[in-house]
Amino acid sequence: MQTDPELREEMVATVRKFVARDVIPVASDLEHADAYPAEIVAAMADLGLFGITIPQEYGGLGLDLLTYVGVIEELSYGWMSLSGVLNTHTMCATLIATFGTTEQKERWLPQMVSGARRGALSLSEPDAGTDTRNISCRAVRDGDEWVVTGTKAWVTNGERAGLVALAALVVGNVLGDIHSDSLDDKLIAISCAVGVLVLGVIATRSAASEVERVTAARAGATASTPLRVVCLLIGYVTVILGALDVIDVPLGHLLVGGAVTGVIIGIAAQQALGNLFAGLVLLLSRPYVPGERILIRSGALGGPLEGMVTSVGLLYTTLRGNDGIIINIPNAGLLAAAVGPAPPEVAEEDAEEAVV
Ligand SMILES: Cc1cc2nc3c(=O)[nH]c(=O)nc-3n(C[C@H](O)[C@H](O)[C@H](O)COP(=O)(O)OP(=O)(O)OC[C@H]3O[C@@H](n4cnc5c(N)ncnc54)[C@H](O)[C@@H]3O)c2cc1C
Repeated sequence: MQTDPELREEMVATVRKFVARDVIPVASDLEHADAYPAEIVAAMADLGLFGITIPQEYGGLGLDLLTYVGVIEELSYGWMSLSGVLNTHTMCATLIATFGTTEQKERWLPQMVSGARRGALSLSEPDAGTDTRNISCRAVRDGDEWVVTGTKAWVTNGERAGLVALAALVVGNVLGDIHSDSLDDKLIAISCAVGVLVLGVIATRSAASEVERVTAARAGATASTPLRVVCLLIGYVTVILGALDVIDVPLGHLLVGGAVTGVIIGIAAQQALGNLFAGLVLLLSRPYVPGERILIRSGALGGPLEGMVTSVGLLYTTLRGNDGIIINIPNAGLLAAAVGPAPPEVAEEDAEEAVV
């Protein structure tokens, strides 16, 4: 809201008088002594300058930017350094008033109005001044806290401030903020989570179909279909965890729950899992392919088995024996057996001739 021009002029005139009476006579001495103007700053606080633009609901004067500019002109005329003291405080307060949560505004702004708690702005770095896009300071969220790593420079009010507005690059995958007071932040977080879900499901399905296509050509449908299911499962779990992470659901709890469930399922499904992993190993090492005649030597499987591999599954490999009987051999048993090419089948007439 615009300040009444009369009030603006009155405020600027008050500061002009203050500068003429209390600042100009001592500014040069203080500057050369490199001394902090504690008394002048206290007088600025008494004039209400630290709350000049802070909204009235938090105890500030709530004056407009034009009034503020007039005040800064007067202070700078007397001693340039004073404008830095007020400007960085006001920038910090403006950031809180504009982007802060309700709790932050109610907690900090009333203290900043009086100057009891002063603000600072920490933007510049040794390698980033005007080019603020080159700042390298990083902020990473850690639960309810932010961990800031970097080096800052030239922080006016730095030693006397009780609040510092610091610019850092936010690193991480938390987009928006599901815990924020702002509906926009919540919506951004939810939209991103939905985006991760939709795109993740599409990507998972495409990848699983491709794996199935490639595997079907190498090992037949019995192997490719379960492998597709495994790919889909891994993909969906990853996508769901990613989406939950975006909306800041503590994955630690989920992972502990998942690990316990995994152990229980692992114990209950030992046999099936053994076959599944053996199937994956056999699929990669390929000691035989469908259509090949093989000889299996294994006591555990009940003696040597000979026949043609008809399909290679993730749990079982199917063999058609010389007598035409089909048997499904568990992959774990096959992985533990000696496997090699079977001797060529001898036709019945040839066999009879050999006997004669
Ligand atoms: C007394 C004092 C107090 C300060 N207080 C604070 C503070 O409280 N908080 C804070 O964050 N920082 C503070 N600073 C840092 C100040 O903001 C930086 O010094 C300023 O941003 C300039 O950066 P630099 O010194 O790295 O100069 P550079 O960025 O290297 O610039 C050097 C010169 O090049 C010019 N220039 C740069 N880029 C371009 C371009 N693209 N086109 C044309 N010209 C260009 C600039 O105008 C300048 O004249 C303070 C500095 C001083 C001197």
